[in-house]
Amino acid sequence: MNIVIIGNGIAGITAARYIRKHSDHSITVVSPETEYFYSRPALMYVYMGHLKFEHTKPYEDWFWKKNRIDVVHDYALTVNHKEKKVLLQSGNILGYDKLIMATGSQMNKFGWKGQDLAGVQGLYSKQDLDLMERNTRNISRGIVVGGGLIGIEVAEMLHSRNIPVTMLVRESSYWNSILPAEESAMITRHIRHQGIELRLETELKEILSDSNGRVRGVRTSKGDEITTEFVALTAGVRPNIDLAQKSSIPTNRGILVNSYFETQIDDIYAVGDCAEIVVTGEGRNQIEQLWYTGEMHGETVASSICKERTEYNRGILFNSAKFFDIEYHTYGSVNQNTVGEKSIYWEHPDRRRSIRIVYNNNQVIGFNNLGVRYRHKICEQWIAEKRSIEYVLEHLSEANFDPEFFMKFEPEVIALYNKKNGKSLTLTKTRGLFGYKKFLSTLPASI
Ligand SMILES: Cc1cc2nc3c(=O)[nH]c(=O)nc-3n(C[C@H](O)[C@H](O)[C@H](O)COP(=O)(O)OP(=O)(O)OC[C@H]3O[C@@H](n4cnc5c(N)ncnc54)[C@H](O)[C@@H]3O)c2cc1C
Repeated sequence: MNIVIIGNGIAGITAARYIRKHSDHSITVVSPETEYFYSRPALMYVYMGHLKFEHTKPYEDWFWKKNRIDVVHDYALTVNHKEKKVLLQSGNILGYDKLIMATGSQMNKFGWKGQDLAGVQGLYSKQDLDLMERNTRNISRGIVVGGGLIGIEVAEMLHSRNIPVTMLVRESSYWNSILPAEESAMITRHIRHQGIELRLETELKEILSDSNGRVRGVRTSKGDEITTEFVALTAGVRPNIDLAQKSSIPTNRGILVNSYFETQIDDIYAVGDCAEIVVTGEGRNQIEQLWYTGEMHGETVASSICKERTEYNRGILFNSAKFFDIEYHTYGSVNQNTVGEKSIYWEHPDRRRSIRIVYNNNQVIGFNNLGVRYRHKICEQWIAEKRSIEYVLEHLSEANFDPEFFMKFEPEVIALYNKKNGKSLTLTKTRGLFGYKKFLSTLPASI
């Protein structure tokens, strides 16, 4: 069987790897971006000098040939699904028995005046990274438009090169559509603490041009004008459905698929950021724009093609990121404001670390931690087993996987719960030394 995959991101490449694991089918992966697969989330570290681009490639360049995965550095113009052919920009045509669309996302642009000026860009691809390298040479200020995960990454990238940064954020607090109020306030403070000028409740109105068609400044919704030579547009991403639309493959916000990643056209599948999974009955269609979900989509579709038709089951949602040096881990359902949702929220006096456990009807449904690491598997298991809040609190030290001499805060979380609820719960299990404070108290006073 001849399998063509459009897109060499995590979803397309995972599909290719698993198809090879399960079968001897012919596999061709097409992408115009880079010849070989790399880690998109690692792009920022290349700019910051922590990694070379070569280090972002999880597999050596020989891996593809050895595993008989043909890599075609080209752009797919259209799919003729009656004849089962893909027309490439080079003029070449690829025939297929099964086609997997894994075309990813595109940065949002909202028709701002000046959005296509030189010096204005998003950060999505390797080409964007190279452009940013050129666009930010010797600039006096960078403007970042948008307060999501990519926005804060671009702010950190510029900041790492001592370039003053202004962030324009429409909301009243950083990423408050996702983070609960206290965590959002913490990250808002943290961004400002880095020296970033964060302008909240401020939108981009217009990007101003110099006489050479290059950005010279922006005007905000508050009427202010800010001088800059670089504007990063990071107001979210949307599924890249260009190829599907040109090829009459049904789309909505994304390429419409069922829970087997089958589109409405025979033998064509869509996976990763570009797919919109139709949810029947109650509930909204799902668009999942995360690295690990792309990986799961790829593995699932490979199984359907090579073994038996396999339904996708994402399981319990998780995500992690970094806000400058504050790590963020979230598992399950947080900040959904469902009826009856409650949480216990503990924050360290340094106001840079927090633990939140969300529960409903006494059952734990989510965790949201900043600066404190909890084991994914354990949190997931507690949520899946519908453990009660009191069970979880009593066993909380099992979840912490910060290194031995890091402070452990579980006694403080449980004490907070006891105080609020008139309880006297105690931790049933501890690991190693119970906190740095306790460790310090064992040292001679002269140290
Ligand atoms: C800067 C940045 C940081 C991120 N950080 C994180 C993170 O920390 N954690 C996380 O979970 N997620 C993160 N994400 C999101 C994550 O990278 C995406 O969810 C993931 O890469 C999507 O994988 P994908 O395979 O669906 O698509 P993509 O990785 O977008 O790959 C799609 C590929 O398809 C190609 N393509 C598109 N159209 C065509 C065509 N017509 N012909 C041929 N090829 C085509 C594109 O060139 C591209 O190479 C980040 C994203 C960005 C941009």
